[in-house]
Amino acid sequence: MTKRGIKKNFLPKWIILLRSGSLFLGIILISSWKLKLENSRPLWEYPLWGFFGHQRINRLAVFTLPPEMFKFYKSHIDYITENAVNPDQRRYAVKEEAPRHFIDLDNYSDSLRLKLPTYSWKEVTEKISEDSLNRHGIVPWHINFMKFQLTEAFRKRDVRRILMLSADIGHYIADANVPLHTTRNYNGQLTNQVGIHGFWESRLPELFSDNYDFFVGQAEYVKTPQKRAWQAVLKANAALDSVLIFERELTSQFSEDKKFGFDERNGVTIKSYSKDFSERYHTMLKNQVERQMRASIKMVGDFWLTCWIDAGQPDLAQLLGYQLTKEEKDADTAEKKSWLYRVFDVRKEGDN
Ligand SMILES: [Zn+2]
Repeated sequence: MTKRGIKKNFLPKWIILLRSGSLFLGIILISSWKLKLENSRPLWEYPLWGFFGHQRINRLAVFTLPPEMFKFYKSHIDYITENAVNPDQRRYAVKEEAPRHFIDLDNYSDSLRLKLPTYSWKEVTEKISEDSLNRHGIVPWHINFMKFQLTEAFRKRDVRRILMLSADIGHYIADANVPLHTTRNYNGQLTNQVGIHGFWESRLPELFSDNYDFFVGQAEYVKTPQKRAWQAVLKANAALDSVLIFERELTSQFSEDKKFGFDERNGVTIKSYSKDFSERYHTMLKNQVERQMRASIKMVGDFWLTCWIDAGQPDLAQLLGYQLTKEEKDADTAEKKSWLYRVFDVRKEGDN
């Protein structure tokens, strides 16, 4: 779920230009950016609230943890929440980032689809080129890779990395549980349903998740992390048909002006799926969004716990008083600034 807004592709260019002193060109670009603002595609195509789901999932996962971990995570709950969206924010600045959020299962034949979950990253790269894998997404393998890294961070008692990686893995796990992250038709663009990505994963949770039951019980150890990541992806993919079919069915019963409405967001009026359409769709999905959010929360807690156990259950009470040093804070700030540069034109997901 990426916060993209309408500045896409324009911010870095004018920053670079202004920095190089080409004020005149800079002014032209700023004007064209403004023009773009006025003529931009409706904002609902660039969901601004995808942040909401990720942040809620990371935050709630903290409450699944056992007492030995809970105190530490609770004391950093704001960090874990706020940074739940980092992976989306760096998608345009870090070349390797985009494929980590999805997998196009429909790109593979039925027989290959059965085998993929059994391949380690090393094995799969021997059979399929890395280029091709990246084009169609690598989320289940990446979750496993993150699991390894977080375990290492616990082993080294490296607080900064524990926090960063906990936030990151939470993001990838949540993405893996979203049906539209498992298909080439990720934003309904192949079936004339553009916008459905943000509708499902952003608009619906924001409208209805206050009434969801998020009590998912206690985190449990995951014996085979890669298998678990694949299970999540396959389960999400099994829900994909209803995501698309119900929206199409419902659309045939709604006129365009009833299907969409206008919302006020941060002082801006944006086109959005109407409340009525959203409610009807949400009912048709029969708690699907809630189920997937619950599955994400549980899985995030399970993975955090598993990393900690595999690292030998380090005493987190000893790390409790740790404050990030000035150098660490500066490094974080510098890194986040670098994400503003939209260097790569990656697939938009819709944009999440
Ligand atoms: Zn994502």
